[in-house]
Amino acid sequence: MKKVVKFGGSSLASAEQFKKAADIVKSDISRRYVVPSAPGKRDSKDTKVTDLLYRCYDLAEAGRNYHEVLFQIRGRYDGIIKGLGMDLDLSEEFAEIERKIDAHAGKAYAASRGEYLNGKIMAAYLGFTFVDAAEVIYFNEDGEFEPELTDKVLAEKLSGIEKAVIPGFYGADPEGRICTFSRGGSDITGSIVARAIKASLYENWTDVSGFLLTDPHIVKDPVIINIITYKELRELSYMGAGVLHDEAIFPVRKAGIPINIRNTNDPDAPGTMIVKTTGAKSRYTITGIAGRKGFVAVNVEKDRMNSEIGFGRKVLEAFEKYGISFEHMPSGIDTLSVFVEQEAFEPKEQAVLAAINRMAAPDVISIDTDLALIAVVGRSMKDARGTAGRVFASLAHARINVRMIDQGSDEENIIIGVKNDDFEPAIRAIYSIFVDTRI
Ligand code: ASP
Repeated sequence: MKKVVKFGGSSLASAEQFKKAADIVKSDISRRYVVPSAPGKRDSKDTKVTDLLYRCYDLAEAGRNYHEVLFQIRGRYDGIIKGLGMDLDLSEEFAEIERKIDAHAGKAYAASRGEYLNGKIMAAYLGFTFVDAAEVIYFNEDGEFEPELTDKVLAEKLSGIEKAVIPGFYGADPEGRICTFSRGGSDITGSIVARAIKASLYENWTDVSGFLLTDPHIVKDPVIINIITYKELRELSYMGAGVLHDEAIFPVRKAGIPINIRNTNDPDAPGTMIVKTTGAKSRYTITGIAGRKGFVAVNVEKDRMNSEIGFGRKVLEAFEKYGISFEHMPSGIDTLSVFVEQEAFEPKEQAVLAAINRMAAPDVISIDTDLALIAVVGRSMKDARGTAGRVFASLAHARINVRMIDQGSDEENIIIGVKNDDFEPAIRAIYSIFVDTRI
């Protein structure tokens, strides 16, 4: 068994947290490859090291003094080293960082040092080999990740190393310039390493005991999802459920490696397993509920629309022309609604409407604004009779008007459109009917 363990920023924010992480690694000999984030927040008022590094970069580029901020960053690392009782001096590293920032090595370079330095400390503390991500994670000239080349080089490199620490979040382009993934990207590095070493499991250690069935800001103490498929997770994270970076599932999904979300502060909790397929039924009929506010429905009506070949294409072309992607498109005999993000649509509203008029010549166009979309997701839904009935009964009881219904062809999700103001009550109503009644 070979496992990759990735620790998030809050799991490595202080010496105390570092110790917990190291104990987790040491308690299982199959935990052989470690991917650290940069030190995160120690409490809600704290600042992440990555944000401090971005601040250094901004100050330096503006020709202002950044040394005070860099000193603060140094303090974070020295605090960790001291708290761990280690004899490690980062003076040379910091001198190099200063030199490179002065030489305009770039924003990504500055940001990446958070993971780089944490990797150095972690490797020394565990007695593992440090592998610089700049040598094994590749990006192209346009700063896009190169999955196949990376997989080849990384697999080769790690095949000769029994135990290694590979910092998350960054890699390098063919010129050796540092590139980073988007924020939270250490999750992606963990997944890439898991694929390269053909891991049996990718453990992602964070500060929650797994994925919650819905947003805890909306429902108090929602239950934890024990097991979820990659596909269900895609649906839920697209609709706003956080915890894992959206792109982190692709490398392991390809290789069929499960991800286990675990809590560094509660290592005995089993967390959430993310798997390719499972025969395990979800605990409730639904696996999760997520959603987002801020959508617009553009409703297009035309007599005998159903028999006009190409009508839908013409309408969608108007959106395409202005670079607006659509989320859903429910239709009736003579009507068709296109759901788009309000923020993207508003500035281009009149141009898009003019284009629809020109291209599709509809009878009427009307617009509903301030809508929210809610996704009710679950692999067990298709075999359970009455699921949709229960969703809509719960909404009716809560006096919520449903503006749109859409079901994915795989029957693993039901999308519901409601007014923005009804968003939270709708989620609470759906949660309650499935979880509180325990069916
Ligand atoms: N340190 C980076 C960030 O704050 C990457 C990560 O933590 O995954 O976004």
